[in-house]
Amino acid sequence: MNFPKSFLETLRSRISLSNLIGERVTWDEKKSRSGQGDFWAPCPFHDEKTASFHVDTTKGFYYCFGCHVKGDCFTFLKDYENLSFVETVTRLSHMAGLQLPKSNKKLAENEKKKLLHYEVMSIASDFFIEQLDSNNATNCIKYIQSRGISQFSLKQFGIGFAPKANNSLYNYLKNKGFSTDLVLESGLCMQTESNQEPFDRFRNRLMFPITDERGRTIAFGGRSLDANVNAKYLNSPDTLLFSKGKIVYNYFNARTRRPKGSPLLLVEGYMDVVSLSQAGFTNVVAPLGTALTE
Ligand code: ZN
Repeated sequence: MNFPKSFLETLRSRISLSNLIGERVTWDEKKSRSGQGDFWAPCPFHDEKTASFHVDTTKGFYYCFGCHVKGDCFTFLKDYENLSFVETVTRLSHMAGLQLPKSNKKLAENEKKKLLHYEVMSIASDFFIEQLDSNNATNCIKYIQSRGISQFSLKQFGIGFAPKANNSLYNYLKNKGFSTDLVLESGLCMQTESNQEPFDRFRNRLMFPITDERGRTIAFGGRSLDANVNAKYLNSPDTLLFSKGKIVYNYFNARTRRPKGSPLLLVEGYMDVVSLSQAGFTNVVAPLGTALTE
């Protein structure tokens, strides 16, 4: 049975290698630097008294300097417990609280659909960025300047502008050849009744793309530029790509750009992340409108 790559990646990102391995070995506490995700133990795969088995939890990888075994959470559990690959994935999914994909055929279709969703998100992101240069963006630019967001930050975070008009993004996406169903499923547009023309979810807002653990845009957050609007911040709804409780804003940047071993700083919102990042703190993330638990 083949599992989709994206599922295995999600699974890998959810499994803490230090927990998985730590339950099966005894760490050498003198040699390990747990704050930096750096663990050493006597190797569980060959007989030894010293600790030559190294686990790098940041990279999700282990290596033994004695017998040279190496790998990730999948190879570890498979080899340690002598499981088949399917058994391994099943066990890890259970640990991570993830549902196993239902069937391969359905999965393949789902994967194809996901690619389309990534594409529509990427094109929408380009659209919002382009709109910053339009005549409609005067107020938006004023707001950006008043908040002191630099050109560099605008680029780095892919910040854009959703115009006031009812369906400018909808028309743009339709012209690019995307089906109405897909555009509605992506959460970028909405429809009150099935026979009505869809309209844009984000209007007159400063737009922040939300990316997944690989840096691909999966959703948007929009900050209203109109003081009279009820919802100051509006996020994409949960979609095929996006589940608001499962990702934090700026996770990809923070993980890849933070100084090695530094902790992640958790702040309240998009603007806090952008401001801190601009001030040199690259290890900042923000929750996406969800309550925080341990
Ligand atoms: Zn070894």
